[in-house]
This record gives sequence, C-alpha cells and structure tokens, in this order.
Amino acid sequence: MRTITTVTELRHALALQREQGKSIGFVPTMGALHEGHLSLVRMSKQHTDVTVVSIFVNPTQFGPSEDFEKYPRTMEADASLLVEEEVEFLFAPSVQQIYPAAHDTRIHLDAITNLYEGARRPGHFDGVATVVSILFNIVQPQAGYFGQKDAQQLAVIRKLVADLAFPIEIIAGSTIREKDGLALSSRNRYLNADDRKEAVALSKTLFFMRDSLRDRQDVASAKAAGTHEFHRIAPNGLLDYLDIVNSETFQPISSFESTGLCTIIIAANIGATRLIDNIPI
Ligand code: AMP
Repeated sequence: MRTITTVTELRHALALQREQGKSIGFVPTMGALHEGHLSLVRMSKQHTDVTVVSIFVNPTQFGPSEDFEKYPRTMEADASLLVEEEVEFLFAPSVQQIYPAAHDTRIHLDAITNLYEGARRPGHFDGVATVVSILFNIVQPQAGYFGQKDAQQLAVIRKLVADLAFPIEIIAGSTIREKDGLALSSRNRYLNADDRKEAVALSKTLFFMRDSLRDRQDVASAKAAGTHEFHRIAPNGLLDYLDIVNSETFQPISSFESTGLCTIIIAANIGATRLIDNIPI
C-alpha cells in the first residue's frame, strides 16, 4: 500500500493507473476504521482494479459544539488494517491540502437536507457534499462506496452525483452490526458500560418496528409503539427522532400508500453520545 498525503502526488499516481486501463474504486472515511469501513473496502477490491481509501476528518462537516477535536484519530492502526486488506492507495491529506487558505466554495443540497440529521446538524451535509465533491474530483473513481449506516448521507451523495452529473457509480454497503445489533460506529468508543447496554435500543427499536410493520399497521401507531419500545430498553436514553421516510428524498411518509422504498430512521443520545441507525424496509 502506498500512503499519499498530497493532492498532486495522488493525481499523478492515479493518472498512471488510468493510463494502464485500471478501474478505480474509492472509499472515503474519517478513519478509526472498523468492520463497517472494511466491508466497503472489500466491495471495492472485488469490483475494481485499484482501491483508494481516504482518511480525512473533515472539519467542515462538524458543528462548533461537535467532536471535531476529539474525534478518534488512529492512523497507524488504520493503515495496518488497510495493508491487510491489500488496499493499493491510502490518501491521508492535511486540512490544508483539501481546503487551501483561499477555499471559498460550499455545496448545498436543499430539500433532502431539511430534516433529521440536516436539521439537527446545520451545515453538516454542506460539509459532506463539499468534501466528497473535492475528493471525487481528485480521485476520479469509477465507483464510490458508502455505508447504508448513514442513510441520509447516502441519499445526499446519490442526489449530489445525479444533480452535478458526476460520472461515478455510487454503491451502498449494508450496515455491519455487533452481535447484539448495535451498528458499528467510530463513536461507539465514547460509550461507557452503562451506555453500551442502552445503545442497543436503537437497533432493537428498528427491528421491532420492521417486524410490526409486516402487518402494515399505520405509520403513526408504528411510531408510537417504536417509541415505547425504545424507552423500555433505554430508560435513560433521549430519543431525538424516530420516523419512516422515503429512502430517496428523505421526506417522511404518512402512509404506506406512497410508493418507493422506505427507511425507518432513528437518532438518540445515549449518555453524552449521539447515535444514529436505520433499516430499509
Ligand atoms: P465515516 O468514517 O464515519 O465517515 O464513515 C465512512 C464510511 O463508512 C461511510 O460511508 C459510512 O456510512 C460507512 N460506515 C460507517 N459505519 C458503518 C457500518 N456500521 N456498516 C457499514 N458502513 C459503515
């Protein structure tokens, strides 16, 4: 694996790969890698000739009161995991490389970012859309791999690619979970032992709702039952939202008469940690 830290060097290295007719798969991450990230890496390795993984804790997607400074940074361990996966290129740029001092452009998506994570974290998806666009333009991959775990982010990226005509296929990887159902997340390491027990309430609530929705009860009563289930499992947890949305537009659905794929989404504070999860139905 070659670790590259500058845009110029990566562009040059990838131009050589392209000249040899190699296809490029790209997995953008913020590091603190776990099996969720590695599942995306494995997909890219299977589908394309050359895999580029980026590790960049993107400052523009963190709000002023969020955890940018203390976000886990475990570069050495991450690099060894990627070597084991036989990744060809690790791109680990500085903030300066991605946002030189004169940087003045932000990409904003409208309706799709109005609710849920977009509403709770103002500017978050602008930061995500901006950095992903910059990285896409640097790497110019055939395919980009993103986790279903961040369902609204996935919808935002798909919309960004469609609206700005990026010639890149977006491929989603399913959510990788702990045995008890907790979705893997770099932020799970913030949970203490008591939090960890309650954190399972997110996935348990989603599975409970998916099962109860098999008999197609109406959306409102499914949400009420789900909310009750969440509080039963996590009496100290703070439920932020629990909703059923159109997977593509991220607008709430009020009945199952609406067509299209739906996703049940949940966000909650467990101790001091904000967790999100979802399940497509
Ligand atoms: P992050 O490092 O949190 O920015 O995540 C990088 C990529 O990994 C994103 O596309 C995430 O959606 C994906 N990802 C994070 N957690 C999981 C998981 N548990 N299962 C599958 N993909 C994940």
